Amino acid sequence: NCYINHPVYNFIDLQDTIVALATPAGSGAIGIVRLSGTHAISIANEVFSAKNLEEVDSHTIHLGYIRNEQQKIIDQALVSVFKMPHSYTKENVIEVSCHGSRYIQQQLIELFIRKGARIAREGEFTLRAFLNGQMDLSQAEAVADLIAAESESAHQIALSQMRGGFSDEIKNLRDELIHFASLIELELDFGEEDVEFANRNDLKDLVAKILTIIKRLLDSFQLGNAIKHGVNTVLAGRPNAGKSTLLNALLNEERAIVSDIAGTTRDTIEGILNIQGVQYRLIDTAGIREATDQIEAIGVQKTMEQVAKSSILVYVYDRNSLSPIEVQADLQKLDNEKMNIIVVANKTDIYNNQQDDGRPNPFIEDRQLFAITQALEKQYITVHLSAKDKTQIDQLKKQLFELFSSNEINQDNSIVSNSRHYEALKSALESLDAVMHGLEVGISGDFLAMDIRHALNYLGEITGQISTDDLLGNIFSSFCIGK
Ligand code: GDP
Repeated sequence: NCYINHPVYNFIDLQDTIVALATPAGSGAIGIVRLSGTHAISIANEVFSAKNLEEVDSHTIHLGYIRNEQQKIIDQALVSVFKMPHSYTKENVIEVSCHGSRYIQQQLIELFIRKGARIAREGEFTLRAFLNGQMDLSQAEAVADLIAAESESAHQIALSQMRGGFSDEIKNLRDELIHFASLIELELDFGEEDVEFANRNDLKDLVAKILTIIKRLLDSFQLGNAIKHGVNTVLAGRPNAGKSTLLNALLNEERAIVSDIAGTTRDTIEGILNIQGVQYRLIDTAGIREATDQIEAIGVQKTMEQVAKSSILVYVYDRNSLSPIEVQADLQKLDNEKMNIIVVANKTDIYNNQQDDGRPNPFIEDRQLFAITQALEKQYITVHLSAKDKTQIDQLKKQLFELFSSNEINQDNSIVSNSRHYEALKSALESLDAVMHGLEVGISGDFLAMDIRHALNYLGEITGQISTDDLLGNIFSSFCIGK
């Protein structure tokens, strides 16, 4: 099938020789124009004079002039030759490293088009690599992730997925499951006769094994997603608690406007904090005290919206002026099950030095209130710090990082970071739960076979063993041209 039926790829011929700029548009020291397809080498050969490219070995590089039809030199360039099937796309591939002027790049691409190539569609190089069996679907997706990776951990996850990651594991388990599915379907062929080719206990063991693996993969998604997209971390607390000051201390720069007037930080201000390769997107909010004026009300509503959208809430309070009862009330308002909460008891510098009038902090002296504080500290991770003096800021960073423990981030550990995979795994889990349930209650073979087939489809979607034109179109059309 040379066509994919999808709005982006509709009616394009996948047998065509394609051309695109592989480096970013614009000028640089060099730019790379890439050709892929049956005629890639012959097309390049027509405009390259130094050597006959059709006769050179694969994986060789050649310096020479590239001329247009009027024999006018367009550029002196390095031409790399990759012969099928030993290339990224498994087709003939030519990469022309030219001088990085927009004009030269444009001239080259137009020349190649006049010689018979056509402009590549979005992601078409990688699409072809997938269709020609160079990589499975999840590996192809990892190529895009790798290119987009902006932190060490995102890079590691993409790299691991590109090198096979968990897709090999899934492929193997799926093969084992196919074996059972066919045995059960064979039983169905025997109709009336009471035969059992598929050993139910073995099937149960296999399903249990797959379920364990899928659950582990699903659990890894929170981390994977956080690493890929950054962790939304919202700072909330009452006006003057020290949120802006804390944000500055974390980011080490004067980002938010700090002021003594309650409720001046009305807009959400973002900064990105990188802790050991994980990016935390810090969001400051305008306090959660009941709004008194209109502008503040918008801020407060925004706070609740931001809190709902975030995966970590850093609740900041001034431990010298807010009673534990009020802290407790705030936390109750903000807490929801999915949220990771870190409580910051701010302004320890004041307590340490005693207050201006020399009185010790009343909330720590009062035994009943102290009991509430202790209970809260049992329930929530609490860091006592001074945002102003920047003491114990590292402790807060450590707590932030530990919520997404780094131990799991290494190239050997499979982490799901792609929401398409996550959804497919979730559906596979449901089908396999149904299989398990069916086995326990001794359901008939045809129902069992149906649930197994569903699971097989979902697992196959991850690796692309099962793919539809829509699925492929949606994945690759989100790539850029040239990838
Ligand atoms: P926000 O309204 O929660 O954003 O609070 P700000 O960051 O604007 O801080 C309010 C006031 O508290 C400012 O005057 C800060 O300088 C002060 N402040 C913030 N953190 C500390 C701290 O750790 N110690 C002391 N002594 N003052 C602080």
